[in-house]
Amino acid sequence: MARKSAIVQVAVVGACGRMGKEVVKGILSRHNFQLVAAVDVREVGSDIGEIVGSKPLGIFVSDDLKSALKESGAQVAVDFTHPSVVFENVKAMIECSVAPVVGTTGWTEEKVKAIDRLAKRKKVPAVIAPNFAIGAVLMMKFAMEAAKYFDKVEIIELHHDGKADAPSGTALRTAQLILHARKEPFPEPKVKHPEVLLEGALGGEIKGVRIHSVRLPGLIAHQEVIFGSVGQVLTIRHDSLSRESFIPGVLLAIEKVLSLPPGVVFGLENLL
Ligand code: NAP
Repeated sequence: MARKSAIVQVAVVGACGRMGKEVVKGILSRHNFQLVAAVDVREVGSDIGEIVGSKPLGIFVSDDLKSALKESGAQVAVDFTHPSVVFENVKAMIECSVAPVVGTTGWTEEKVKAIDRLAKRKKVPAVIAPNFAIGAVLMMKFAMEAAKYFDKVEIIELHHDGKADAPSGTALRTAQLILHARKEPFPEPKVKHPEVLLEGALGGEIKGVRIHSVRLPGLIAHQEVIFGSVGQVLTIRHDSLSRESFIPGVLLAIEKVLSLPPGVVFGLENLL
């Protein structure tokens, strides 16, 4: 691992994307972080300062992750890219002894375990968080509490129509946490095999927790967790109204990751 210094040297991967640009701006706003590299497959060769609407920084977008990490001396690399590439990106970061802070979704339990094993072997700490917004973390916490008292739950997640995957990482994580908190399975539904006239009408299902994905222009990231029991319904809702909502969580992870033990910390809740 690169030695921990007072000013954390940070690379942003996916720097020209919707989230990447906000992360770059967040890093530039902090005196204890220094942006040292910007990686993306778009805008290669452009000055990242100009891409985010600031002054030129002399840091040019590269599409060669490993070289960018090695040449910049990055200690931490933030990834907001695409579910199809994030696994290989994170492996490359760890191979370069750079601590990953990952917001990109698309993680399965097996992939997280594989990264955890690699990170431990290479003695590199890593943070992967399906949602960096504090309100979303609280929504999941409150849902875990409610899960113990209600007979049924469904999750509706709503995102902008440019989102690359469905359901969202937050919805999957919420379902896992609800099942974990509840310990015993949800009761069988009243109608076990309803006649489905349109494929997908009932959403996807993980052990009795249904998830529905809505994709519309105008949305950012939203989720409702709806619990039902006899004569009552409890709705827990969180809305990210701008991508800035994720940035304090990302900056916190950058600040903390180098002091974590080797391996993966999964979920922002474990850093609070
Ligand atoms: P986006 O706007 O598409 O940005 C992704 C950027 O990464 C694009 O510029 C993309 O280029 C680039 N890219 C693709 N492959 C790459 C590679 N191999 N190396 C470097 N750059 C690469 O997506 P976004 O809306 O920012 O979201 C990114 C991810 O973050 C998604 O998985 C999303 O669900 C997740 N997300 C997580 C949180 C959280 O709190 N954890 C919050 C919001 C979003 P091209 O477009 O040319 O492929």
